[in-house]
Amino acid sequence: MQYRRLGRSGLKVSELSFGSWVTYGRQMNNDAARECMTAAYEAGVNFFDNAEVYARGDSERIMGEVLKEVGWRRASYVVSTKFFWGLHDNVNEKNTLNRKYLMQAIEGSLTRLQLEYVDLVFCHRPDPETPIEETVWAMHDIVRSGRALYWGTSEWSADEIRSAYEIAERHHLHKPVMEQPQYHLLHRDRVEREYAPLYADFGLGTTTWSPLASGLLTGKYNDGVPEGSRATLKGMEWLRSSILDPKGIEKARRLKGVADGLGVPLSQLAIAWCLKNPHVSTVILGASRTSQLHENLGALKVVPQLTADVMAAIDRATADE
Ligand code: NDP
Repeated sequence: MQYRRLGRSGLKVSELSFGSWVTYGRQMNNDAARECMTAAYEAGVNFFDNAEVYARGDSERIMGEVLKEVGWRRASYVVSTKFFWGLHDNVNEKNTLNRKYLMQAIEGSLTRLQLEYVDLVFCHRPDPETPIEETVWAMHDIVRSGRALYWGTSEWSADEIRSAYEIAERHHLHKPVMEQPQYHLLHRDRVEREYAPLYADFGLGTTTWSPLASGLLTGKYNDGVPEGSRATLKGMEWLRSSILDPKGIEKARRLKGVADGLGVPLSQLAIAWCLKNPHVSTVILGASRTSQLHENLGALKVVPQLTADVMAAIDRATADE
């Protein structure tokens, strides 16, 4: 495992990390989560991603219990959480980044995680109804209080990130250090084009999500929908149509041909491709069982196989006809 600087910060994160969305509290209980986190940690993963909203707080609860049980030194790993959607169906408690919500949210997450601080805290989506200045001050105060070490954004536009950065700079506040965007073979534009000036101007770090497009880029949906897979889960109907989009499946079939040519699983090719981008600080893996995680961690050894010719073949396989 290699470690990359999180943007311009001094923090180093493992180039592959592990997240808990959909899986913890739904497909995985404490035992399964412990098994995966242990496998990841033993492979050198030092960053575990989470969010307040995942399994409505249960994902943080499970991660907190696992971390307590395994007893790793706190300094040896990085944990994140994210705020926006909230846990309560009430005004000022959902779909906001106002100061009142953020101050409560960090307390709740630390309690569920049984931690004194999280390393990274993200604004999970932009909030058009709260001035960015209010959010920047609140995130600064959270970092200043020691309850988080670095803050960043998730799925903010380049303009919104720039605005937050400039407000922080103007007032000598803690600046946003990283963004958490979707990035995979079928979703590249924002990371490669929209954010490009931000890498140059601020040294923005990225913790990228859904490297396998929720499983589509393993090829598992190429010949139908496997039972128990993410596309079949109750509550994930909104995602089902994008996982099963015929254009995406056609591209996954073509990509499978490239992976077969290299003698590697498509999952590893897809993850290794994300790692080729130097602006990616860490690729957050997802897995609903340990065997998937082991396979996905194997992507590290595929990176050197992605020569310029292979990258060009990948571009052809993912091009719109
Ligand atoms: P992926 O795109 O890698 O999808 C992971 C899912 O794909 C697994 O849960 C599993 O689903 C299937 N899968 C994974 N590996 C294999 C394999 N080798 N063979 C077959 N199936 C496999 O990542 P996620 O979408 O889970 O995202 C990763 C992390 O990113 C999340 O846990 C979260 O931490 C973060 N994230 C952040 C978001 C944000 O808004 N900031 C949004 C989404 C994710 P199954 O077995 O059920 O089919």
